[in-house]
Amino acid sequence: MSEEARAGDPIRAPGPATSDVSTSRRSPDYLAASRLDDGRLSDLLAQASTDAAEFREVRLPWTEARLVDLPLNGAAGVREAVRRGRVAQAAWARVPVEERARRLLAFHDLVLERNEEALDLVQLETGKARRDAFEELADIAVVTRHYARKGAHLLRPRRRAGLIPFLTRVWELRRPHGVVGVIAPWNYPLTLAATDAAPALIAGNAVVVKPDPQTTLSALWIAEAMREAGVPRDIFQVTPGDGPVAGGAVVDAADFLMFTGSTATGREVARRAAGRLIGMTLELGGKNAMVVLEDADLDRAVHGALRGCFANAGQLCISLERIYVHRALYDDMRRALAGAVPNLVVRPGLDYEADVGSLLSATQLDKTRAHVEDATSRGAGVLVGGRRRPDLGPFFHEPTVLERVPEGAAARHEETFGPVAALYPVADEAEALARTNEGSYGFNASVWTRDLARGRRFAARVRAGTVNLNEGYAAAWGSVDAPMGGMGASGVGRRHGDEGLLQFTESQTIAAQTGHPLAAPAGVGHGTVAKAVLSTLRTVRRLRGP
Ligand code: NAD
Repeated sequence: MSEEARAGDPIRAPGPATSDVSTSRRSPDYLAASRLDDGRLSDLLAQASTDAAEFREVRLPWTEARLVDLPLNGAAGVREAVRRGRVAQAAWARVPVEERARRLLAFHDLVLERNEEALDLVQLETGKARRDAFEELADIAVVTRHYARKGAHLLRPRRRAGLIPFLTRVWELRRPHGVVGVIAPWNYPLTLAATDAAPALIAGNAVVVKPDPQTTLSALWIAEAMREAGVPRDIFQVTPGDGPVAGGAVVDAADFLMFTGSTATGREVARRAAGRLIGMTLELGGKNAMVVLEDADLDRAVHGALRGCFANAGQLCISLERIYVHRALYDDMRRALAGAVPNLVVRPGLDYEADVGSLLSATQLDKTRAHVEDATSRGAGVLVGGRRRPDLGPFFHEPTVLERVPEGAAARHEETFGPVAALYPVADEAEALARTNEGSYGFNASVWTRDLARGRRFAARVRAGTVNLNEGYAAAWGSVDAPMGGMGASGVGRRHGDEGLLQFTESQTIAAQTGHPLAAPAGVGHGTVAKAVLSTLRTVRRLRGP
């Protein structure tokens, strides 16, 4: 099979693509068509905390046209940002939590008000489809509002039971860490700059974000909106820079780390942070399974697979790359996918026409190609898709479904992080469960059945931080009152839920003893005290049970 598709091949390709993508002069000028221009991009760069002497050219993935020269901080620039954050944090922690939450709600309102500019910007930086960009904005609104509403309740001092009733009184306080370092990848750059920062800020921390160099403008857009909403400049900072240097400096200087990225980098970050004994949450990679049991609604499952596998062109830590289908439905599912996937609209454009956008870069495209070619060279078949689409842009790839991917192929267990899923038949529920739990990752799973009780029983045996029933990934992701994160090689710690805010605090216990201190009264021997304590402990056990 040819590696490249021609314009007009099955995946629909309307829009302004040219046939010669290497000549960006002949490509549409998407920056000019957007709500931004060079001046606005320079304004955003001015939001950065930087003393950089080095610069990196950032290009638009759809055409490889230059967007900006991004300043790159060295370690000193990052250390200075953290130092400023630490100085400012003491005053921020004294601002009442209700007021901090009010400013985050003002940020929420600004994001919604200016959504079109943010969507343009994130599309220019990532090449993603607008519907995927919109998912980021909706996520920011949902998460920010959730913690703005719940923050004061979660952070209030709590009474705890004391050692001796009436004589020991205990309070649990929640104290901010100081400066939270957020290291974020390029795939959801708006939401990953904002949605961990929001609870961290409400909890009274300063935040220093180190985004991916390709998507730093999106993080700077967030910084600008935070400032306008009343979050002080040094309390939310974006420090541009590359991974090992600027990211490493964040690990070396912050008081708590929120890292999102690949499992390999996560391990490096964890090793480095361990020496400093700071807390961290790691949100890492996945190789997520979709399971279609024999009583599933096939039409809904096919629809779910299209979004679950190809949202953000598969560049999503919770997207589905393995599809296990009960034999009774396998042929129907296979036929339905072969019919539906070519109808996905794949194209560039600052409108809502595309279902699937571009990959971010040559690196992402090469990895996707390598997984498809490796699988086919080992005997896998391409059910649908399988080719890059240079007629649409340099990094476009067709949504692809593979079948018969053998053991040993990279696409079987390694994260592709591209628009490629593999379809496998399974004999029964037991095999589906065993296959779902294969491999070292444990981020997300998606189970399709008409019997919700059966689905919940199955889900409880899946080794994954989130399991979506009759949905691909969005039900669990969007339900921000519940925690989200990975088991096994997919991560440590959780975002969302109560712990999504409490992780940005340290508990402090204050215990007050009224009356006599907890020591033997003068003249009473230690043996006598021990006997009295033993007798009390036995009585308490008898009266209170276990
Ligand atoms: P990456 O690990 O290469 O980079 C992530 C971030 O870490 C970037 O900002 C990068 O500059 C920085 N970095 C790189 N090396 C570093 C180092 N030595 N020290 C400190 N920081 C360093 O990941 P990526 O390729 O940008 O993102 C894709 C990966 O992220 C995928 O594996 C995906 O599954 C994962 N991801 C996970 C989640 C989640 O919530 N679990 C969300 C999105 C993406």
